[in-house]
Amino acid sequence: MLTSDDAICIRAVDYSETSQIVTFFTVSHGKLGAIAKGSKRPKSSFDGPIELFAHGRIVFSDSSREKLATLTEFQQAPYFANLARHLPLYNACLFAAELVNLLTHDYDPHPGLFDSFLTFLQNADQLRPAAGTHRDILAPLIVFQLQLLKKIGLLPLLNSCANCKKPFTPAWPEIYFSNPANGLLCKDCETGFPEKMRLTKSAADCLANPTAIAEAKKTTLKQVEQVLVGYFTYNLGHPPKMAKFILNT
Ligand SMILES: [Zn+2]
Repeated sequence: MLTSDDAICIRAVDYSETSQIVTFFTVSHGKLGAIAKGSKRPKSSFDGPIELFAHGRIVFSDSSREKLATLTEFQQAPYFANLARHLPLYNACLFAAELVNLLTHDYDPHPGLFDSFLTFLQNADQLRPAAGTHRDILAPLIVFQLQLLKKIGLLPLLNSCANCKKPFTPAWPEIYFSNPANGLLCKDCETGFPEKMRLTKSAADCLANPTAIAEAKKTTLKQVEQVLVGYFTYNLGHPPKMAKFILNT
């Protein structure tokens, strides 16, 4: 049976001299793997080899969800050409795609997450960050990560103490984030949790109120990103591969 869906390529590996195995994140079918036979031939039905972040309408046969689907058509929207020219942007998008791949299951749709991911890629493609700065991409990347966590039901408690449930305010004298506690910790509760990270008020404010992210300084955004990478690492059991490129730029 042939099925169609809107899709974004989140992974593509060569399968043979002429074919690729592609992982798509789709609106109605979630993540799915498909073989694109002949995609590397100059005249394929997929407009040439399928690149990461290529997006558009796919048609595929999914006779059995145990096996790879077979891609039969891919009507690609105009490619995000700017992304490939700016390494910080490209790395941020690779990181976002890696998180979608790691944190969603095959055939488990999250249409809201698809929209957030596509919007993130579109926004990244519009940026022209000056050389050496990646603040411009870090802010939307953090917003995307918080949306991802919320949409897959993994968002930690960020607007109150995860232990005593006291509502967070920037007036707290000390603020911590703890993975085992699954959220923020106040000064009264932090001693019960050996594994924690002390946060600046502005970093905690960004986590509790995502509207603060757009105005935050780069140092604040870097601390927020450190919290998020630590949280992904704790929940996945290993750091995402692209995390070091995001933290070290
Ligand atoms: Zn507390």
